[in-house]
Amino acid sequence: MSFDTLGLSAELLRAVGEQGYSEPTPVQRKAIPVILDGRDVMAGAQTGTGKTAGFTLPLLQRLSTSSARKGRRPVRALVLTPTRELAAQVGASIDTYGRHLPLQSTVIFGGVKINPQIEKLRRGVDILVATPGRLLDHAGQKTVDLSQIEILVLDEADRMLDMGFIHDIRKVLALLPGNGARQNLLFSATFSGEIKQLANRLLNQPELIEVARCTATAERIRQVVHPVDKQRKRELLSHMIGSHDWCQVLVFTRTKHGANRLAQQLEKDGLSASAIHGNKSQGARTRALAGFKNGEVRVLVATDIAARGLDIDQLPHVVNFELPNVPEDYVHRIGRTGRAGNEGEAVSLVCIDEHKLLRDIERLLKSEIPSVVLEGYAPDPGIKAEPIQNGRNGKSHSRPRKHTEGRSRGKSSADRHTSGATGSGTKRAPSKPGKKHIRRKSGDAQAAPQHRHSRTTRGQKRAAL
Ligand code: AMP
Repeated sequence: MSFDTLGLSAELLRAVGEQGYSEPTPVQRKAIPVILDGRDVMAGAQTGTGKTAGFTLPLLQRLSTSSARKGRRPVRALVLTPTRELAAQVGASIDTYGRHLPLQSTVIFGGVKINPQIEKLRRGVDILVATPGRLLDHAGQKTVDLSQIEILVLDEADRMLDMGFIHDIRKVLALLPGNGARQNLLFSATFSGEIKQLANRLLNQPELIEVARCTATAERIRQVVHPVDKQRKRELLSHMIGSHDWCQVLVFTRTKHGANRLAQQLEKDGLSASAIHGNKSQGARTRALAGFKNGEVRVLVATDIAARGLDIDQLPHVVNFELPNVPEDYVHRIGRTGRAGNEGEAVSLVCIDEHKLLRDIERLLKSEIPSVVLEGYAPDPGIKAEPIQNGRNGKSHSRPRKHTEGRSRGKSSADRHTSGATGSGTKRAPSKPGKKHIRRKSGDAQAAPQHRHSRTTRGQKRAAL
């Protein structure tokens, strides 16, 4: 099936052609005609499915064909995203696909100066991509008028709720014209009860579009677990990158401090590495990402939220240096590889403390991830499980950490963060790595540690809409 059959204009088809896309992805095939028809959409689609073009193309078309306004351009389409990176990504897609159309767009998020954003808004934009916090800052200063929004997109709505943006979303909705006066598009990787509540409030008889089960991991991603002691993970990571000559590796840690520390250690091992997380300035994050994309930086070490929305074409390797506390984050992490039809590999380095996290992930995936002990890195059976340390102060958390890159109590939308470190273990002399041998996992042969955190933040009750 080609793009020509979807009802897109010649300008948009030209832009799509220039991107080299030969055919629409499943979410694009389903969403584009429905959105062009003016209907509300509730779409279950993860990043990597082509969902951004799925809503951007018809959005551009609808705006370009609806009546032109006199005087200053009012904002007619609003795309809300949970993170700065995703906002920038969506903004770039709008520029790319809309390059042959006379529409103006801009991106606003926290952590950067507000005045240039005010200036852009003052000059008039048709499409605004924003994170909720900074958008409300603008609304408070009356530097943005949302009363003429015709199309609202909530992108990665599940992550916005995870990040505690629900109150901000409600405030933004109150600034928009009535529900019947606009088209609403909600994209989410998962459909929890909360998302359904949000959808009920927001959407009018939406078309339901689901392209992959919310917890399904892309089949083209090869997943493997390497059991290893905590204090030997860094050594194993350097060894794997070096021996396999991996050129571009995205590595996940649980904490910002852990990401910094690992990036520094990898640098000492002679591997060019940068950390990307919410405590970094927007400039540093952009530079790290640019360096990673252009090949100057071989290893990008990221926390979950910072990595959200990163779109790096053909990223072949994702490494979970530490498993996430929230099983769904595993799906998001490994979705960074195997994008747009490419193959990918997701490697998880798992120490004894993380066995419960691994079981939770496998329960979510409804399948066991193959486990391969690398020779020379077999876990020391004498090491006992310890509670996972999520904070720099060494405290273990009785509940999953609330994502701290969201908005909190009336501050500006610049990310707020807690720093943390993973606990360090006793040092052992490295042994020489050699040939691999495969070990089938046999149930819960090894004692699982008693973690005090619960399985998922989604279990936590949030304010009802
Ligand atoms: P997304 O899920 O929107 O983050 O998109 C994932 C990646 O797929 C991006 O790098 C897009 O450029 C790419 N992409 C989007 N649509 C297509 C298509 N029809 N064919 C090939 N690649 C695409």
